[in-house]
Amino acid sequence: MNILVSGGLGYIGSHTCVALLEAGHSVIIVDNLSNSKKETAEKIINITNKQVIFYEVDLTDDKAVSMIFDNHKIDGVIHFAALKAVGESIKKPIEYYYNNLVSTMVLVKYCLKYNVNKFVFSSSATVYGENRVPFNELMELFPTTNPYGETKVMSERILKDVAQANPMFSVSILRYFNPVGAHESGLIGESPNGIPNNLMPYITQVAKGKLKKLKVFGDNYPTVDGTGVRDFIHVVDLAEGHVAALNNLKKGVHIYNLGTGKGTSVLELINAFEEANGIKIPYEVVDRRPGDIAECYADVTKAYQELGWRASRDIFRMCKDAWNFEKNNSLDY
Ligand code: NAD
Ligand code: UDP
Repeated sequence: MNILVSGGLGYIGSHTCVALLEAGHSVIIVDNLSNSKKETAEKIINITNKQVIFYEVDLTDDKAVSMIFDNHKIDGVIHFAALKAVGESIKKPIEYYYNNLVSTMVLVKYCLKYNVNKFVFSSSATVYGENRVPFNELMELFPTTNPYGETKVMSERILKDVAQANPMFSVSILRYFNPVGAHESGLIGESPNGIPNNLMPYITQVAKGKLKKLKVFGDNYPTVDGTGVRDFIHVVDLAEGHVAALNNLKKGVHIYNLGTGKGTSVLELINAFEEANGIKIPYEVVDRRPGDIAECYADVTKAYQELGWRASRDIFRMCKDAWNFEKNNSLDY
């Protein structure tokens, strides 16, 4: 199939392009490079030995998006493009609502116009808010604590309404847990701008000596060792989950958790990283980070039953591949 991948040069999008190309699909990447680099397209080509088509286009640019649908026979869309920094979204709500919601609406509009009925959407475990773990897809959603999270809740709602009005439309909403790690080649991975907000890139930058010490946000949660627990998933497993979702699309809206189903605490992740890579990670415990929940992990039964997909790479592999990418890439990657 010809798959339009929005945000395809970003962290998860680039790994998914690799998985799609390896599964025999063609990809048309649309990305405005607001959080990615053009060279990533070359890296995808290097890894797969296959060509990709790349448009440097902003998805809120209605005319430019229309032209892409005019130029290609598109069979399906995987929509990754979004702004994703939780803290920034609190400071710049309009930017987040505008970018994330208008992008989704423009893409869906042209899918309907050009009879593209296959649509896969990047949602997030953040929509579960403070539900009880493990989170399953039938749970009622609690309000999220930030505009970023709300853009995911609202986009899910928009897609449900569109599918209701257009019975041929098939949508998979994928709720990701905590993607970490990198492609085993070390060519593509996560390279956040500035000081990382997320745990794994912070750890790899401490390992590299770019940052001095990790701050562990709280050790008094009601968890196995008092630190926060998350469902870390290898980004290549996640990418493969998208291929499975695309292959198993059904009419209407279907929601799947993409995680491992296993919770790992912050201290357990630090230990796994040290063991996997033989590097000590200095850390100190500081106050809780506002807005954090104690535990977040998935019930992954539905994805396995309906998509035939489950994550296979363990926490050591995640730590090894994350470090392999960090050490192979210069500061300005
Ligand atoms: P990323 O920032 O690496 O990738 C997003 C890509 O979209 C970037 O390349 C960016 O340049 C592009 N983009 C943003 N707005 C655009 C626009 N208007 N037009 C064109 N391109 C645009 O992020 P990621 O980690 O790969 O996340 C991909 C998706 O998964 C996002 O929707 C994100 O909200 C969601 N998600 C990510 C995580 C995570 O921890 N990484 C967790 C849950 C959900
Ligand atoms: N965390 C931490 N130090 C950091 C970054 C994160 O202790 O520098 C903790 C955070 O409190 C949470 C876990 O690591 O318990 C995962 O946080 P991350 O930001 O990676 O993901 P999210 O909060 O989105 O699940």
